[in-house]
Amino acid sequence: MAIGNLKLKKVSEADQKMIRDIEVMMGPEPNEMGFVKNLFWGRFRDDLVFPYPRETKAEREKADRLLAELEEYLKNEHPSIEIDQEQYIPDWAIRRLFEIGVMGMTIPEEYGGLGLGVTSYNRVLALIGRYCGSTAVVVSAHQSIGCKAIMLFGTEEQKKKYLPKVAREYLSAFCLSEPNVGSDAAGQQTRIEESEDGKYYILNGEKKWSTSGALAGVFTVMAKHRIKNPRTGKVEDKVTAVIVTPDMEGVDVFEKNRSKCGIRGTWQARIRFTNVKVPKENLLHKEGKGLNVALTCLNYGRCTLSAGVYGGARQAMDQAIKWVQTRYQFNRPLAEFELVQQRIARMAAYNFAMDAMLYMTTGMLDRHDKDIMVETAITKVFCSEMGWRV
Ligand SMILES: Cc1cc2nc3c(=O)[nH]c(=O)nc-3n(C[C@H](O)[C@H](O)[C@H](O)COP(=O)(O)OP(=O)(O)OC[C@H]3O[C@@H](n4cnc5c(N)ncnc54)[C@H](O)[C@@H]3O)c2cc1C
Repeated sequence: MAIGNLKLKKVSEADQKMIRDIEVMMGPEPNEMGFVKNLFWGRFRDDLVFPYPRETKAEREKADRLLAELEEYLKNEHPSIEIDQEQYIPDWAIRRLFEIGVMGMTIPEEYGGLGLGVTSYNRVLALIGRYCGSTAVVVSAHQSIGCKAIMLFGTEEQKKKYLPKVAREYLSAFCLSEPNVGSDAAGQQTRIEESEDGKYYILNGEKKWSTSGALAGVFTVMAKHRIKNPRTGKVEDKVTAVIVTPDMEGVDVFEKNRSKCGIRGTWQARIRFTNVKVPKENLLHKEGKGLNVALTCLNYGRCTLSAGVYGGARQAMDQAIKWVQTRYQFNRPLAEFELVQQRIARMAAYNFAMDAMLYMTTGMLDRHDKDIMVETAITKVFCSEMGWRV
């Protein structure tokens, strides 16, 4: 039974509200739960993990061709060191990634993309992560969260209007976080309401940390919306997601970036919305379903961030293996010392585990499993921590 339906004795109103919000975020009831949530209910659903999910042969071969072209570019042209030093990814490098097809690789072919699946997408992100962490994050923010809501929840008109552009022309950005809103995504302070004539939504508020916000041609924006619950007739605060473009009057990207100690080539913008008139047809999914929209997109982002870290860890291991074979101390290569061998073995084990977990989870996404929130979260934590250890 849903916790929200129980009488919670001795639980403050504030904590009850937090439990209700978390319940909405946690998703389905037991019969639709994913593998990990099932474990918490004492059920081992081996049918959800065995056999290990695999792409089709055709999908793998198509991705292999993209990977070969991309690696050629990354090895010979991509300015990874300058990107980190200058805290900037040059426009030409972003354009090259559009040309190769990377920026639209998961967008269906009928909208100008390559139509590849989530596993292929993460293989590409792992390859980019080997060369440049900043570029991996920019590609991920664009396709996993920036325009993902249009792919998943967009109307046919929205898809036709925006997907060919985000596949071939410009970046997209995701605007959920705010000065006072981080982990508590439901606590949006940006507000959206219907205009008096009913033709528009009016958007007011401030967003923070929006990756590539200063470079993007389109934003997915989440905002608090007072709407009437059709069942109870009560007016409630919900979250609604809309498509906003930077050319709309009242959109002000007032800070393009904030320096960081890692992934320095990525830019996180601060954006102010002042009485922005958002056309009604820019609604994503349904009014009041914006939290759903945001959290679904974040599932994809968690995997690609894991893939980027995994790629970096593979690169670190390969470099370490080369080094211990060619560096001599005490008249022998470092590789002959048992302690060094142990370290390399541990790196290999961590990388193997990251690979196994990542592609298990992307396989679940490719199968369109309903509930993969905990799996993607575990993957992100595990890969970040193991990547750091490697
Ligand atoms: C490089 C980068 C890129 C980003 N890109 C985007 C983007 O494109 N779009 C976007 O909308 N946002 C983006 N973000 C924002 C990111 O989503 C937030 O940083 C994240 O949601 C966490 O929020 P916060 O940093 O405000 O931390 P807070 O929510 O303030 O949390 C601070 C600390 O408290 C802990 N904490 C919070 N609540 C709890 C709890 N209930 N129980 C236990 N511990 C808790 C957290 O784990 C954390 O350690 C980006 C951030 C970074 C750093």
